[in-house]
Amino acid sequence: MNILLTGGLGYIGSHTAVTLTEAGHKVILLDNLSNSSLDVLERLQALTGKPFAFIEGDVRDTPLLSKMLADYRIDSVVHFAGLKAVGESLEKPVEYFSNNVQGAISLLQAMNDSGVYKLVFSSSATVYGEPEYLPLDEVHPTSATNPYGRTKLHIEEMLEDVSSSNSEWRIVCLRYFNPVGAHPSGLIGEDPSGIPNNLMPYIARVASGALPELNIFGDDYPTEDGTAIRDYIHVCDLAEGHGAAINYLDNQKGWHAINLGTGQGHSVFEMVRTFEKAIGQSLPHRVTARRAGDVAVCYAKTDKAYTELGWKAQRDLDEMCSSVWYFQNFQISKDKVA
Ligand code: NAD
Ligand code: UDP
Repeated sequence: MNILLTGGLGYIGSHTAVTLTEAGHKVILLDNLSNSSLDVLERLQALTGKPFAFIEGDVRDTPLLSKMLADYRIDSVVHFAGLKAVGESLEKPVEYFSNNVQGAISLLQAMNDSGVYKLVFSSSATVYGEPEYLPLDEVHPTSATNPYGRTKLHIEEMLEDVSSSNSEWRIVCLRYFNPVGAHPSGLIGEDPSGIPNNLMPYIARVASGALPELNIFGDDYPTEDGTAIRDYIHVCDLAEGHGAAINYLDNQKGWHAINLGTGQGHSVFEMVRTFEKAIGQSLPHRVTARRAGDVAVCYAKTDKAYTELGWKAQRDLDEMCSSVWYFQNFQISKDKVA
């Protein structure tokens, strides 16, 4: 199958590119490089031993998308492209609505005009807002607590309406929980510019000595050790979930929302301890105030992914942490050579 990945040089897109290529698909990448670099393209080629078609461009450029859909005879699209930082979305909501919502509209226009109706969309557990019960299943009420979350919710709703308008559409919204980890080769992983917002890349920078210590945002949550709990999922498992979703769309019409998580919650202290085990040394940290907007506990019900997609996360927390450390060291050794 010929599959277009928008945002395909980003963290999750690049891992999915590897998985889909290994499964025998032809993967075509579009990215505006706003949060990635051409270096990733070279690494993807080194990793898979295959050349990738890559177009530098913006998902809001509808004529470019239409041309790509036709030129590469695209069968399915996985739409990763977008902005993803919650804090930044509060400062720059218009940029978020433009990149994410306008980007999705542009893609839908191009797909509709080209008669390409299979779409997998990168959604997020953020669409569940403050959990009303746990684990979070796909029928849990949805809401948004920040502009980033609102873009995901708007896009999901738009996709549901679009799929009702024409029975040709086959759309899966994959609601990711907390993607972490890196490819075992050490060649691709999460490499945010500046100071990371998320826990795992922050821990990795502390471990490498690039940052002095980890701030643990609150130890007064109603959890066993007082720190907040999340459902961390290895990015390679997540990538495989996309392969399963694409296969699913061969036989399923309409709109579907499916959680991709492990179903297991882990606290911040547990993450720190597991990372310390992976690196064989202790990680400087201190407890600070809670981060505004954080929920205490969030983890997925994963039954639907298993029954519908036949997919289940395989990799544990040790593998998530050790792969991040391996990738981090690869980056450091590469920087020394450069
Ligand atoms: P990422 O920033 O690493 O990847 C996104 C890619 O899209 C980047 O390479 C960026 O350059 C590109 N891009 C951004 N705007 C674009 C545009 N207008 N046109 C073309 N390319 C554009 O992010 P990621 O972690 O790989 O996330 C991928 C998707 O998954 C995003 O939609 C994100 O909201 C969603 N998601 C991510 C997480 C997470 O924790 N990483 C969790 C839930 C959902
Ligand atoms: N967290 C932390 N220190 C950090 C970054 C995150 O203690 O430097 C905590 C955060 O409060 C949350 C968990 O780690 O409880 C996961 O945070 P992340 O930003 O990675 O994911 P999200 O909050 O989006 O689920």
